[in-house]
Amino acid sequence: KPSARVSGITPSGKDGWEVHVEAVTRKEAGEDIIMLSVGDHDFDTPTETIEACVTAVRGGYHHYTQLPGIPRLREAMARISTQSTGVPTTADEILAAPGGQLALYAAAQAVLDPGDHAIVVAPYYATYPPTFRAVGADFTVVEARSEDGFQPRAEDIEKAVRPNTRAILINTPNNPTGAVYTRKSLEGLAEVCRKHDLWLLSDEVYWTLGGGEHLSPRALPGMAERTLVINSMSKSHGMTGWRIGWLTGPEELIAVLASLSLVTTYGLPDFVSRAAAEALENGYGVREIAERYAARRTMFLDAVHGLNNVTVRGSEGGMYVMLDISGIEPDCEKFAFGFLDAENVAVMPGLSFGESAAGHIRISLCQPEETLKEAAQRLRRFVASYS
Ligand code: PLP
Repeated sequence: KPSARVSGITPSGKDGWEVHVEAVTRKEAGEDIIMLSVGDHDFDTPTETIEACVTAVRGGYHHYTQLPGIPRLREAMARISTQSTGVPTTADEILAAPGGQLALYAAAQAVLDPGDHAIVVAPYYATYPPTFRAVGADFTVVEARSEDGFQPRAEDIEKAVRPNTRAILINTPNNPTGAVYTRKSLEGLAEVCRKHDLWLLSDEVYWTLGGGEHLSPRALPGMAERTLVINSMSKSHGMTGWRIGWLTGPEELIAVLASLSLVTTYGLPDFVSRAAAEALENGYGVREIAERYAARRTMFLDAVHGLNNVTVRGSEGGMYVMLDISGIEPDCEKFAFGFLDAENVAVMPGLSFGESAAGHIRISLCQPEETLKEAAQRLRRFVASYS
């Protein structure tokens, strides 16, 4: 029998993926479904990055690497963190990890003991609650509200603080809402962290897809020493399957985290580290990918503009668009299943990501523009026919 700890990470039951799973089943049975339910790029990793990896493999880079990452990679990551957070960052403040998810797990391990309490802002990325469960921490979900464009309210967060609260987890640009947190929202969060001596775990894996200059809470007064930034090459560099990301935080904490690498990753693949370093140094794909998602977002939002009883919420950055369809159908799961049945388009019901996204649907922009255009037309038709 598996341990209670591991079996408790993802308790069984309804998990919000039912529409997606049904769409996959139908697609495998030969139906022509437009999949707008998941967030993986429809395009491949840039050729330059692939070439760098092939060169590294051929060059004999097949060996064990240093636990927090090879120096060249940590230095390249530190330069990106300096750029993305606006805070001068050294390689000693970087833990290289196989993906943003492991960086998040490392962050949770680093600051939460079993029984400690954390606050997570919803709507959230699906792995957040399981990550807290995996480290044995208790957590409270605080909902950012649709009418606020899914910006978090500091007073709502502060109400959830308990004597044993140690950390707040946020994500900007946000999955699933596409909200890009404003300076005001981040200042409010920072104030709560400083006042109650909390860590801020800031998931910024979509930092290049925010549409303007990225704003990280790490740059706010008194926050560099209490912020752990989760970053990744999955979205920014088109490298989801390569599993490469990093954690940025105070040097003492990063040094301790090498012991977590010892018992988990035992270092990263050598050739992946070298290709990743080269991609970071040269920005392979970054601008093109950011421009592609910006163009898709604008196109899709234009195409659904003016739809009766449909309101765009958040949707400023990241890889998703969030539509409030509660004026048509309050049950977003029913809407999503209905849309799949009637128009062969798979989207996610907002409720899968938090209570405040009930009555919404999340649309992934991970399809070519032509496909997204077609999906928008089908959405218009479905909304018009809905009764
Ligand atoms: N954080 C957020 C908000 C995400 O959406 C994702 C992936 O979808 C991740 C982290 C994990 O990314 P990675 O592929 O770097 O593990």
